Amino acid sequence: MANDYERARLKMVDEQLVARGIKDPRVLSAMGRVPRHLFIEEALRDRAYGDHALPIGERQTISQPYMVALMTEALELKGSERVLEIGTGSGYQTAVLAELAARIYSIERIAGLADKARWVLASLGYRNVAVKIFDGTYGWKDQSPFDAILVTAGSPEVPPPLLEQLKEGGRMLIPVGDRTTQVLKKVTKTPAGVEQSSLTGCVFVPLIGGHGWVAENA
Ligand code: SAH
Repeated sequence: MANDYERARLKMVDEQLVARGIKDPRVLSAMGRVPRHLFIEEALRDRAYGDHALPIGERQTISQPYMVALMTEALELKGSERVLEIGTGSGYQTAVLAELAARIYSIERIAGLADKARWVLASLGYRNVAVKIFDGTYGWKDQSPFDAILVTAGSPEVPPPLLEQLKEGGRMLIPVGDRTTQVLKKVTKTPAGVEQSSLTGCVFVPLIGGHGWVAENA
C-alpha cells in the first residue's frame, strides 16, 4: 500500500511536473516526499496523485499538484525564509513549503479545516509550521515581514496588508480575478517599487474576507 502511493507520487513528479517544465530540484524532491494522500479523506485517496484538484470538505479544494509546484517554484525558496500562506485548506501546500523554508505561518478562515490540517502536519512531524484561524486578507502582522507570501484562494485584488507585510526583495504569488477564474500573479517588492507579472490562468476557490470577496451563504 505505502509503496503504491510512493510509486504514484514519483510518477506524478515525472509526468505532471518535470514533463511540464518544473525544474527546481528542491521543489521536485519535496513533492516526491510529502505524502499527499494523507491530506485527503480516505474515500478519495486513490485519486490523490491524479492531475486535478480534489474536494477537502466545506466546499474547498486541494490544488492540482502542478499548480502547487508552479507557485512554490516561483517563490524561489532557498531554505532560510519566513513564509506566509493564506488558505491552509488541507495543509498539503503548507507541508511542501515546510520542506523548503525555515518557518511557515499559515492562515485558514474555516476552523474545521485548520484543525484537521494542524493534526496531519503534526502527525507527520512538521515543527516549523504555525496555523492560525483568521481572515488572512489582513495577513499576520505580529510575524511580519515575510520573505515570501503565497495566497491559495482567488482574490479581487492584492490585499494591501499583504503587500505591506512583504519584505523588500520578497515575492508574493496570488491568483487575482473574479470569483471563478483568475490570473496567477507574481508580485515582487523592489527598491524601485512593486513589480507584477502574470504566470498563467487559474481556477481557485474565492478568498473570502475584508480585502477579499463577501461570503456567500448558499
Ligand atoms: N492550499 C490548500 C488549498 C486550499 S483552498 C491546500 O493545499 O489544500 C483555499 C483555502 O482558502 C480554503 O480552505 C478557504 O477556506 C481558505 N480561505 C478563503 N479565504 C480565506 C481568508 N480570507 N483567510 C484564510 N483562508 C481563507
